[in-house]
Amino acid sequence: MIGDTIAAVSTPYGKGGVALLRVSGPQAVEICEHVFLPKNRSRLSDALPRQAIYGEILAPDENGFWRSVDDGVATVFKAPHSFTGEDTVEICCHGGILLTQTVLSALFVAGAMPAEPGEFTKRAFLNGKLGLSSAEALGDLLEAQTQEQIALAHAGMRGKIEEACTGIYTSLRDILASIYVKIDYPDEDLADLSREQILNRLSDCESALAKLVHTYRTGHAIAEGIQTVICGKPNVGKSSLYNRILGREAAIVTDIEGTTRDVLTERASLGRVTLRLSDTAGLHDTENRVERIGMDRARDLLEEAELILAVFDATKPADAEDRMLAQELSEKCGVSIAILNKSDLSAEPDSFYAERFQHTVSVSAATGEGMDTLCGMVEALFTDGLLDTGRDAVLSNARQHASALSALEAVRRAMVSLTAGLPVELACTDAEQAMSALSELDGRAISEDIVSSIFSRFCVGK
Ligand code: GDP
Repeated sequence: MIGDTIAAVSTPYGKGGVALLRVSGPQAVEICEHVFLPKNRSRLSDALPRQAIYGEILAPDENGFWRSVDDGVATVFKAPHSFTGEDTVEICCHGGILLTQTVLSALFVAGAMPAEPGEFTKRAFLNGKLGLSSAEALGDLLEAQTQEQIALAHAGMRGKIEEACTGIYTSLRDILASIYVKIDYPDEDLADLSREQILNRLSDCESALAKLVHTYRTGHAIAEGIQTVICGKPNVGKSSLYNRILGREAAIVTDIEGTTRDVLTERASLGRVTLRLSDTAGLHDTENRVERIGMDRARDLLEEAELILAVFDATKPADAEDRMLAQELSEKCGVSIAILNKSDLSAEPDSFYAERFQHTVSVSAATGEGMDTLCGMVEALFTDGLLDTGRDAVLSNARQHASALSALEAVRRAMVSLTAGLPVELACTDAEQAMSALSELDGRAISEDIVSSIFSRFCVGK
């Protein structure tokens, strides 16, 4: 609860050189004075802000006597100049598992409450220290597994999305102010905007929002990952391709049909993008019950796939089963790429594939030949090469995308009603809806439920 003083270990659980405990809230300094005794016998409350102080760390023994358990360093951050915007003390002790827990328990005995997951960041958001998209980006940074994800999260943390939102929000607010002045004081000679000027300004907002919405394609591909399914007949090299993309032998590869029966799924990076990659059972005509269950699972996944890597054996001409499979995949919503595998054994794949699929690539899952081409193809299909993910405002999750989209649609509605000559008040209602969607996007106005669900994804101590 805001108002409480919370404490948690901010470094990961485990043995390490040092561990960092964080205490935040109005009683932070007072509580830490029980636990931390500066070596020069000064008081923690007299410490200069952001100055590291060496001292003794105390904890109560089983009889309740406070005894020295370690030496460490404490730093005091005075509100509002701290991460959370509250008085905060960070204590570094040696990184023993029991020792760290002992210091944390001592902080609780001294009056601190255990922090919920993400509570420090939630407080930073509620105290206006960072916007909601920046807080989400911070969560993404902790989860980042690729350099692209780090760059994207870092740009998000620097408030790029909030910056873009504020620009559009301010324009809409100015348009509305000018319209309302005219409605409220129709007889005054005020320099209000003409219908055409309003339309021009709305059109600028529309372009800015459309640009922002468009960035989600790239942000999604990098941060959330593209739902990708590898499929094809048995023995065409699906598992070999899966292993090649993952860079390790995750799936069993044999020349025995039906080796992969269940779905295997892992996150993998392919160039700039992240794939939520699934290897599936070979699709073919079989009476084997277990294989059929595997095939049903593969087909279910194909319905949801954003990217289908349809693997074919390029050493053989396309047969009836290949043709049926190509037909089936062309009806799916996801983008299909025909992977013409085993290029190390065959010079020319059957021309049928190039006729049937919009995207084809010759690869050898065995040698890695052609993988760069596949990588470039996927990047071109799912990301915007002109976007600088380390600098530009890029939407990186579905929540942000939904809010930006609803703001865009509202602005478009306002433009349609103004163009149709409808009363200007109608456009005002739409512009207000666009502003409220933007407020949700950057967190200026968002329900407590959504805030809680966002921060519960964080770890304790962040
Ligand atoms: P899956 O049943 O489609 O998953 O196919 P696997 O990945 O298990 O491969 C079937 C057989 O084809 C194995 O013997 C692999 O070593 C072989 N194979 C897979 N990809 C290639 C390739 O690019 N070149 C060659 N020469 N053999 C491959």
